[in-house]
Order: sequence, then structure tokens, then C-alpha cells
Amino acid sequence: MLIALNDDITAEQKQRLAAGIWRRLQQFETVEMNGKTVLDVHGIFPETFRGEFERMEGVEAVFAPDAPLVCNVEPTRFFDKFALIAGPCAVEPGDGLFQLAQELKAVGATALRGGAFKPRKSPYLFQGLGLDGLKILKEAGRAADLPVVSEITDTRDVELFNEYVDIIQVGARHMSNTPLLKELAKIGKPVILKRSPTATIEEFLLAAEYLFADGNTSVMLCERGIRTAEPATRNTLDVAAVPVLKTLTRLPVFVDASHGTGFAELTAPMSLAAAAAGADGVMLEVHENPPCAYSDAAQALTTDAFSRLIKQIAAVRAALEVSYE
Ligand code: PEP
Ligand code: MN
Repeated sequence: MLIALNDDITAEQKQRLAAGIWRRLQQFETVEMNGKTVLDVHGIFPETFRGEFERMEGVEAVFAPDAPLVCNVEPTRFFDKFALIAGPCAVEPGDGLFQLAQELKAVGATALRGGAFKPRKSPYLFQGLGLDGLKILKEAGRAADLPVVSEITDTRDVELFNEYVDIIQVGARHMSNTPLLKELAKIGKPVILKRSPTATIEEFLLAAEYLFADGNTSVMLCERGIRTAEPATRNTLDVAAVPVLKTLTRLPVFVDASHGTGFAELTAPMSLAAAAAGADGVMLEVHENPPCAYSDAAQALTTDAFSRLIKQIAAVRAALEVSYE
């Protein structure tokens, strides 16, 4: 955003303007352009900022040549109420997912998750059931009347995911895989985009911008913890990212407290914190028998614990009168 200053701006007006920009965006550069003094403000910010600066004394004009679409365009919403996406980390062999899906639906889940292509840290760990996993997930979701969510890890699988899932998850490891984002933008299927543990909020939103830029506005953001110096939790759940993202964009913002903490007992308090912070939904790993989960056993909830948590989330939202149903 470029803020051109009046030639006769007073020192006091200039100081007020600088303080206003600094308070909101923490940075700007003063440059000379065609004989005019211009403040060059970098980064991502909501369209409303433009109007605010236009009205400030000493400002001649504001230009936003590269305003990002994610900040200004109304997204297409997949969920029409608070989303409760639940299911195992990975789809496992057997028919356990059918029973689990029925139970999740009965207690109030609004979507079923399950990874079929798992991005594990070691090649010797369970890698997922691949296409068979997608088939099981689709069937289990259909039987329980739940839309299904699964993570894509390879651009070559876009057509497959288009056929088998209702929402395509782009995992933290692929947030900045721009060829993948471009392909997903083309097919227009709803996408849950997870934040990379090393991404700033601006980088996260610019990844979403890749989807918007090629015409896919059905995008949901998911905070799932960032990497910090703190080893007590698997990641550091950045709950503040929820209100920050919600001031910058109208995209639904979800929180995954399972990967965000790494421990089942921490997922409830952090999901409640997410609800209180204004999240539009949560994603949680739930398993029919957590200690035996093929992956991420320590962070999996039982259906009972998930059911209790849903009630607490509803109570928090009611107490705070969160408006987005
Ligand atoms: C997952 O949801 O199964 C997953 C691997 O999450 P993330 O990409 O956030 O690590
Ligand atoms: Mn997992």
C-alpha cells in the first residue's frame, strides 16, 4: 500500500500518521516518488485500513495496487455452523472407521477426517493405506452421512481426491507447495489449508492467496501449532492467530489442537481456548482405541472425551455469545 503525502503536510500530521501505521502494521518505509513523499507499507492488511488512512490529515491519496484477494473477497463457506471435524489420524485397515463414524455423527461431529496418504517423519513408519484408505473413508462417511476430509500429499493425486473426498486437506508440510495449490485452485474443491509450523501469518495468507488467485474461494484456514523453543508440547498452538486472521480476512479459521499440542489431555483446554478466541471450528483426532492408533496415539481422544468436549465448546460459545453459528 502506498500512502502519498500532501506537499504541505505538517510535522505533527506526519507524526500522527506514522504512529497510526506503526500501531497497526509495525512497519513502513519512506520513499520519494516523482517528487512526492510516499509511505510504502508492506504486508497483508484488510481493505478497511485503506479507508482509515485516506481519511487521515496530511494524506493526499492511498494506492493499494496489490491488495490480496484473501483479505477482500468473501469466501465460499462449506460449513454453515461451527465445524467439528473429527476422526483418526490415519485410516487404518479393517472396518473400525465405520463404527467410529457412526458414533461421531451421533455425538455431533460435522465432518469425518482420516489420512490415507500420511506424511510421516520416517519412511519406516506407517505411510497410510493410499487409495484403499480413501475408499474406506468415503464409504464410512457416506454411511454415517458425514462429509469427509483427507490430506493430499502429491499433485498427481488431485483427480483422485476430487473424486473421493468432500474437503481436501493441505497439510502443514505442503502449505507452501505452490504447484499443488495451483492445481487445487483449478478444480475448485473446498480446501482446508493448514499453517506450516514455520510460516508467519502473512505467508499463511499468501498460500491461501494462491487458491483465490486461480478462482477457488472455498478455503478454510487451520492453525495447528508452530515450532518454537518449547519442547513440552509437540507444537506451540498459536491461539492468537485466530483473532489476527479474523481481522485480516473473512475466511473461516479452524484450530487443530491435536497436532497443536500432541497430547490428548491438552486438546480439550486448547479447543475451548480456540472457541473463545472466535474460531469457526475445530479439527480433532479421535480414535476408537487411542493407545492402539497406528499414528499419533498420544493425541487421540476417545469418542466419549470428544463428546464431552463438544458440550463444553457449546457452553463457551453460548457464554461468549459468539455470533457465527
Ligand atoms: C494431519 O492432520 O493428519 C496432519 C498430518 O496434520 P499437520 O499437517 O497439521 O501436521
Ligand atoms: Mn495426526
